[in-house]
Amino acid sequence: MFSHRRTLASETGEVKNHNQKYPYRLNFYNIPPIEEITTEEFETFSLDRLQVLKAIESASLRTKTELQVADHIRDVSNQYLPLHSTEGGKGYPLEQERRKDHISHFILRLAYCRTDELRKWFIKYECALFRIRFIEENKEERQAFLNNERLNWKDLTQNEKESMRNELSLANPHIKFDDETFFIVNFEQVPDLVSRRAVYIKAGKAYVPISEQVTLVVGEFRKKLYTALDLASRAFPSIDDERILPLLNNINQQYLGKTYMNGNNVVDKVTADNVDQLVGHFPLCMQHLHRKLRELHHLKHFARMQYNLFLKGIGLTVEEALIFWRKSFSTITDEKFQKDYAYNIRHNYGMEGKRQDYLPLNCHSIITNKQPGPGDQHGCPFKHFSEDNLRAFMAQTGVRKDENLKEILDLVRGKHYQVACTKYFEITKCLEDSISRDSGERHLMETITHPNSYFEQSALQLDLSLK
Ligand code: SF4
Repeated sequence: MFSHRRTLASETGEVKNHNQKYPYRLNFYNIPPIEEITTEEFETFSLDRLQVLKAIESASLRTKTELQVADHIRDVSNQYLPLHSTEGGKGYPLEQERRKDHISHFILRLAYCRTDELRKWFIKYECALFRIRFIEENKEERQAFLNNERLNWKDLTQNEKESMRNELSLANPHIKFDDETFFIVNFEQVPDLVSRRAVYIKAGKAYVPISEQVTLVVGEFRKKLYTALDLASRAFPSIDDERILPLLNNINQQYLGKTYMNGNNVVDKVTADNVDQLVGHFPLCMQHLHRKLRELHHLKHFARMQYNLFLKGIGLTVEEALIFWRKSFSTITDEKFQKDYAYNIRHNYGMEGKRQDYLPLNCHSIITNKQPGPGDQHGCPFKHFSEDNLRAFMAQTGVRKDENLKEILDLVRGKHYQVACTKYFEITKCLEDSISRDSGERHLMETITHPNSYFEQSALQLDLSLK
């Protein structure tokens, strides 16, 4: 048993020595880290990498252009997992950056090797991250990395190229033939290009233009990662360290954002009387609860808890919360309110029972825990409403165009509920057009992962001030 530090290599069964550390920014992650890392690094490195992969997922689902995705990923990477090239990174701690990149990849490899679905997700977004980095890398460093990986495919000589001018030009009408370099590989190595008919094939060989090199390299990366995940999944059952197992088992469900324990940072003076003025800044889940409360003068237990904790997160004090709920439950007596409801409200604020100061619920827990049954009001509309109800609710609350409704409903069908919520935010706050128009200059907002973050971003966006 290791004391406070551990070695990763033993978990994958691929212990190797590597003397030359991180000569390149790009990495095929062939060799596991064999150094000791602290348990704190174990957690922070993996969660930081997860932020980047999730940002890629979200950006690719929400945007149309590769440029927008790359811009957004550059921002998020710089924040959580900076990784500079050797040439452009003078003055940056390159060794530390590459170490973090290396270690975090292997931790997530372990965490995401456990099921087919997790493996697919990890391969998809690691490949996307590698692709972005490869495209951004300068030519010399890229080539040095490929040579090191022995991916120096054979180039066509000038004479060979000339002799195949017609065939190559026909297969690649979009390229400038005279400026292009071609290289030769077995056609099975480039299934993507073959399926897109983007290469000339003859006698089992594919003639690949250099502009398609990235497809080939990402294909290699994917192949290696697929095999490595398979290996890791077989080694995983032998991990028995209780300090890292919980993280590995739950990391894909981790909430990575703020907790909103201490209210919001943008609006103060939230009182029982001005909640109604703020509802336009609430996400659909909370708008729904507010409407139901006004309609029924009552909410069931989980709905009350979900809404009360959200209101606490936007700054409603316990005194104001008691006034708010008392006025809202207008059809019952004071005595009944005190007896049946006031205790729970104070309990949410840590003033009763165990005196635990409960956190506002994040999207993941609203979406996955306590599934609402018939007649329940809690939950997430994107996950729990029928398609017809969700469409009608979105139309009532500001999504006017059919194409926008369709776009959100497509995301919901793909089970991307938080991305759908973010899209709803962009459309209803009119951010969508400006993001498309500015493509590249204006960056994407982060994906909504918490109802209180939705509120804060909405308030900030419209410069709401009740101060
Ligand atoms: S995704 Fe989150 S914020 Fe949006 S409606 Fe669902 S639970 Fe609320």
